[in-house]
Amino acid sequence: MKITGLEIRAYSAPYTTPIANGKYRYAATDIVVASVLTDEGLSGHGWTHGFKVVVDTLESLRERILGEDPFSVERIWDKMYLPKVYGRKGFETRAISAVDIALWDIKGKAAGRSLNRMLGGFRDAAPAYIAGGYYAADKGLDGLRQEMRENVAKGAKAVKMKIGGASIGEDLERVDAVREALGKDIAILVDANNAYNRLDALKMGRELDKRNIYWFEEPLSPDDLEGCAELRRKLDTPIAVGENEYTRWGFKQLIDSGCAQVLNADAQVLGGITEWKKAADLAMASHILVAPHGDQEIHAHLVSAIPNGLIVEFYDNNLNTLKEKMFKKHLRLDPAGTVSVPDRPGIGFEINFEALEQFRVYPATESGTSASV
Ligand SMILES: [Mg+2]
Repeated sequence: MKITGLEIRAYSAPYTTPIANGKYRYAATDIVVASVLTDEGLSGHGWTHGFKVVVDTLESLRERILGEDPFSVERIWDKMYLPKVYGRKGFETRAISAVDIALWDIKGKAAGRSLNRMLGGFRDAAPAYIAGGYYAADKGLDGLRQEMRENVAKGAKAVKMKIGGASIGEDLERVDAVREALGKDIAILVDANNAYNRLDALKMGRELDKRNIYWFEEPLSPDDLEGCAELRRKLDTPIAVGENEYTRWGFKQLIDSGCAQVLNADAQVLGGITEWKKAADLAMASHILVAPHGDQEIHAHLVSAIPNGLIVEFYDNNLNTLKEKMFKKHLRLDPAGTVSVPDRPGIGFEINFEALEQFRVYPATESGTSASV
């Protein structure tokens, strides 16, 4: 089988309500889809978040992958990764990720096996948590309680909320309100999205230790491994990091630093599925668990495939116009709070390109482009 084409499409759509976490604010979602075509008629689709840098990088990767056998993922990864030019970190690595994910989709389709089966098939379903608890104008404690109760009504046995966007006192009131609303049997995860300095992270962490929190995610800058390792030693609450880390080498550093008990390795960010498996295996050798950040349609397969997969991040796609329209079938939360991996070839979620067309920003439509990043 040979690769005969790479089609690149980018889409942008506003959130139904703009969302904010401890450090960042998002008004829109931007998704780039890389479609790899082959001479045998099979095609695979990989997608990541971002726009201009991802599209430019993909355009320059095209000639490097044409004519290659899509099964040769290591060879193709090596050809795409040019550390002097691009690919070590950031949006460029996301472009590599999208191509690599498309290759795995082809491999699964050719073999008639799901990604889960292709990668190890450790189990057919995995625990999941509903991500949310963002800051929003006029949300208040009542709005937060209401959102979290709705998540539990959907079947969630674990929920995540944002912290770091308000004072420590105010955020603790929010955490306590959620605990009071959900009771003691629902796991609460908190995510600071890099918002704290070392002093405030420790102060917050000591408070979280009194509150039986499932994990404390990204308390510090992703570049403060030393501070993160020190925090981990001082706190009982597990630390989770890694959604802003890249490649096997970045994950080796993270693991060696002793910074975290859980890694949020994201295949759409760190270099694709080929690279994600390397990060997950490095973690396994160090008895560290993996709970990916990002799109559940891909990561439900990956968490289920490996023995050290902990839990799947599950976004309610109603928040996100693009994700709601993107697939012909949706991954739903099971009543037990788990997600069952579809036993369909490849990723197993067919993209509804017709429904996405109204959001296309690349190739540019006649009305021009409007994506933000
Ligand atoms: Mg996070």
